[in-house]
Amino acid sequence: MRYISTRGQAPTLNFEDVLLAGLASDGGLYVPENLPRFTQEEIASWAGLPYHELAFNVMRPFVAGSISDADFKAILQDTYGAFTHSAVAPLRQLDANEWVMELFHGPTLAFKDFALQLLGRLLDHFLTKRGERVVIMGATSGDTGSAAIEGCRRCENVDIFILHPHNRVSEVQRRQMTTILGDNIHNIAIDGNFDDCQEMVKASFADQGFLKGTRLVAVNSINWARIMAQIVYYFHAALQLGGPQRSMAFSVPTGNFGDIFAGYLARNMGLPISQLVVATNRNDILHRFMSGNRYDKDTLHPSLSPSMDIMVSSNFERLLFDLHGRNGALVKDLMDSFKQTGKLSVEDERWTEARRLFDSLAVDDEATCATIAEVYRDCGELLDPHTAIGVRAARECRRSMAIPMITLGTAHPVKFPEAVRQANVEEPQLPAHLADLFERTERCTVLPNSLTDIQQFVAAHGNRGKPL
Ligand SMILES: *Cc1c(COP(=O)(O)O)cnc(C)c1O
Repeated sequence: MRYISTRGQAPTLNFEDVLLAGLASDGGLYVPENLPRFTQEEIASWAGLPYHELAFNVMRPFVAGSISDADFKAILQDTYGAFTHSAVAPLRQLDANEWVMELFHGPTLAFKDFALQLLGRLLDHFLTKRGERVVIMGATSGDTGSAAIEGCRRCENVDIFILHPHNRVSEVQRRQMTTILGDNIHNIAIDGNFDDCQEMVKASFADQGFLKGTRLVAVNSINWARIMAQIVYYFHAALQLGGPQRSMAFSVPTGNFGDIFAGYLARNMGLPISQLVVATNRNDILHRFMSGNRYDKDTLHPSLSPSMDIMVSSNFERLLFDLHGRNGALVKDLMDSFKQTGKLSVEDERWTEARRLFDSLAVDDEATCATIAEVYRDCGELLDPHTAIGVRAARECRRSMAIPMITLGTAHPVKFPEAVRQANVEEPQLPAHLADLFERTERCTVLPNSLTDIQQFVAAHGNRGKPL
């Protein structure tokens, strides 16, 4: 499989190089040159397979030519065998023909484990083969950091540096990062906010001299391998509920548009999906696009669903690429002008095309808590605030009661106790594998909000705690 950039200028790469590349050299995002397509019969023949075998069938075309079937199978079995629920992504029924797919049975209790557990193992596989080491740098306001650290903790060839804003992530989220001890794991608390962290990571990618030739790898949601891994659970859900012989609708709690874009790809690969609901919090740039063709940058509104607090949606560019007939030059012009003006809209026919599949809703904190309370009262399920936003949007945007509606349950409620408290329902408990989280030893370095200090720290510790 070959990958091309959404801005049409960067070199075409194979899967291994895309995994290590992150952003394309022209500023675009990598997408498959040709999306694989499965027949109904083929998809139907996967019914009843364990999750890792389904994952192999769905993802195999994307990695073809870069990794052997046997190696890929072994990696997938190891990845999803580490989840704490044997169904990996179990479905729970909320109401008539309405479901939540629980994507929080991985080590850090959020759906990001589906991709980052795989990404860490794939990185190690390719780096061992190449005899190379890499440094990963990432900024987090919570979920991504812990999932990335958990995904890379056993990687022989990776040193990972995760920056978070000092005293500005929840205690559960901080402890999920800082209690993973290893000489290749480096938590840095910055005296600053999340944007400061992100800016320093961006600046480090732009000028990598301080790394003395070591490659820097990105694990944020623009990495193609993350999108790829998320396609699988759409097939999994459909196969549990009578697909592909009947179509499905999904509602997806959305920030950077990675998770829902995977659903869009599943549909283009042959899975009958009749509706995708973009569920956002007050940071609603995507809702404003879907409802009124206005993708206009706004200020950041901190919310009870912090993993969806974004100003722009980095993966939206991948959808724009398809909406514009995969014309990279057009996308480049659009993105350049968006960078200057902070505004973007598309031609009417393109927007109408998007609206055939996508609906959207923005849900504020009050409605989020009301939904947590309502679902708890009606069926005893405790939702996290992100999932609650998904359920609310699913109910308000649903086009057909005859089509199963599946909301992606993106996090375990114990990660976001504040919203659950405000909803006035039972306090969630930590699952067994994290029960002693509050007693574990933490390791973290607090650094000033200074790019030089951060880069010196990385250079001094980037080789399993030793200098590069
Ligand atoms: C990351 C995250 C999201 C948003 O996913 P995107 O792929 O960025 O749209 C939603 N919910 C939770 C709990 C998350 O961690």
